[in-house]
Amino acid sequence: MPKFFQYCPRCGSQNHKFENHHRFECFNCGFIYYHNCAAAVMVILRRGDEILFTVRNNDPCKGMLDFPGGFVDPKESGHEAVIRELKEELNLDLTRDQISLIDTEPNDYKYRDILYRTLDIIFEINLHEDITIELDHSEIREVKWLKKEEVDLEAIAFNSMKEVVRKYIL
Ligand SMILES: [Zn+2]
Repeated sequence: MPKFFQYCPRCGSQNHKFENHHRFECFNCGFIYYHNCAAAVMVILRRGDEILFTVRNNDPCKGMLDFPGGFVDPKESGHEAVIRELKEELNLDLTRDQISLIDTEPNDYKYRDILYRTLDIIFEINLHEDITIELDHSEIREVKWLKKEEVDLEAIAFNSMKEVVRKYIL
């Protein structure tokens, strides 16, 4: 992996350290930057005894199984992020009372050679009726409704998600 920062972004010095991929400090000008955890939401969408998985259309983990979700925008709540992401990805219209918070998990997410540490916030939604889904193909190749015995842990994109599948689905 290339060096995260080659030069100090404030003064251009190469005299700096980046501890634990978290705290950047420049010894020349004193600039300090924390590469903090990013919040992300992940949704277990249930319909009867089936769970919706998306097939990723982009790296990282292109072609592998994922849950709907994504990064939380600045000034957005987790619930708002779920409503926005499921509208964007699946064209679903949801209300806050349909969404239950169930857990959180730390995760690593590498995007274009930059490692982001995330805190994944896991939600669950139970859909009772037949729903219409329209995919955003820029992010999602297809969706699969799987029963728990059809879920292959090896096909799942991220470690945090495998943990969620083990705990809440299998
Ligand atoms: Zn500096």
